[in-house]
Amino acid sequence: MNLVKEDFIRAFSLYEEKALRYRRFKHADILPLLQGKEISKRFTIEEIGRSVEDRSIFKLKYGQGAIKVLLWSQMHGDEPTATMALFDLFNFFNGEADGFDAFRKVIAEKLTLYFIPMLNPDGAERYQRRTAMDVDMNRDARAVATVEGALLKEQAMLLEPNFAFNLHNQNNYYNIPGTATPVTISLLAPAYDYARSVNEVRADAMRVIVGINKILQEFIPNAVAKYDDEHTPRGFGDNFQKWGASTILIESGAFAGDTEKLEVRKYNFIALLKAFQEIASGSYSVHDIADYNAIPFNDEKLHDVLIRNLSIERNGKKMLVDVGIRQNEKTVVDDYYVEGLIEDIGDLQDFYGYTDLDVEGLQFIPAKLYSERIFSLAKLSPSNVVKLLKQGFAAIRVSDKVDAGMMHSFPIQILTDTHFESRMSPLIGDDADFFIGSDSEIRYALVNGYLIDLKVEMDGKFKNSIL
Ligand SMILES: [Zn+2]
Repeated sequence: MNLVKEDFIRAFSLYEEKALRYRRFKHADILPLLQGKEISKRFTIEEIGRSVEDRSIFKLKYGQGAIKVLLWSQMHGDEPTATMALFDLFNFFNGEADGFDAFRKVIAEKLTLYFIPMLNPDGAERYQRRTAMDVDMNRDARAVATVEGALLKEQAMLLEPNFAFNLHNQNNYYNIPGTATPVTISLLAPAYDYARSVNEVRADAMRVIVGINKILQEFIPNAVAKYDDEHTPRGFGDNFQKWGASTILIESGAFAGDTEKLEVRKYNFIALLKAFQEIASGSYSVHDIADYNAIPFNDEKLHDVLIRNLSIERNGKKMLVDVGIRQNEKTVVDDYYVEGLIEDIGDLQDFYGYTDLDVEGLQFIPAKLYSERIFSLAKLSPSNVVKLLKQGFAAIRVSDKVDAGMMHSFPIQILTDTHFESRMSPLIGDDADFFIGSDSEIRYALVNGYLIDLKVEMDGKFKNSIL
């Protein structure tokens, strides 16, 4: 049974796991799903070990075919998108009487699928890349010092999979070369040696990728790239390829406006389902690896905000520059705040911004802290904030207790002390708090890395600073 575009859309809408809608879910959120009755309908679930902090790590098995496929997700704790997609797949394979029964039957007869979701639960707990012992698990395939990495290697040796899927997230700043399009999914058949040789094992991974790319192009044309193919002797993907499993890296990337990556998650689900179909039917074998080579490599030229042709001045000397700004997420316990930082200053003609603005004729205006009075957050109104912004104040003092989430919920910097640095011109690494305008008028505010057009009226509510 050959699934086409409409089938993939329908399958996802039927089986998306609604309990996982926010990126920062933790082990405790997936545990009830793994221990529930429904999931074990067609899956065999086994605890294969525990993390350093004693969180359970599970392996799920579906099907009884001769071709073994091993997939693992979230060996980097802050890369959760594929974990979401795996739970969508578990729901899909447990479904019935929906028109997909024949497809499921073929998959179960031809393949045995093994899934290890959230391989780094301690990292997920902190929303950090590394394990609780601060080791990058994807640089531990050779030393195998981490208990979690050892579990993965143990499964590799035990199962000897024919195909392997290493599931990650890449940052939001990768673009398709020469375009402002963010890379939504990037793919790679990792190299097993420095020469990047292609044996039949790696060639098969490339062929499966050609199949995945074909279906993804129907959804996200020109938003699929290849990940850097330099050989990483410590990496798991590279080693699985060396151990004889045709290994495919899938990196969940970015889709404009998709903060929680629910669109990207859908393309992950589709990519994996398509891969299972290609492998089960053997259809991948006719694909040409020239089509793999033709997929462009990731470029990395995106910023969250790019201001073009800004006039800046120091010591009476004026110059015209572009300014690139990135909004970094800082985790604080179970919450996070956004820290907008100036990332680059100069000729950024070949770069792009999710928000991209040419301000030719306008100049940099330093931001000020409003220190006349101390505000109460509860009473802060949008019109007050706009009034302050229009007068060049980018920060206020408040009397309330401020938590991390609040720090990026208001389109003005919320301070509980008087610590606010005002610069006469932008500096790399500084907080992106400044104004843009002419001698007579302030036209735009940059607050915490978010661009605010002061000519656009706010509709009475603060909307997460993105106005
Ligand atoms: Zn990763």
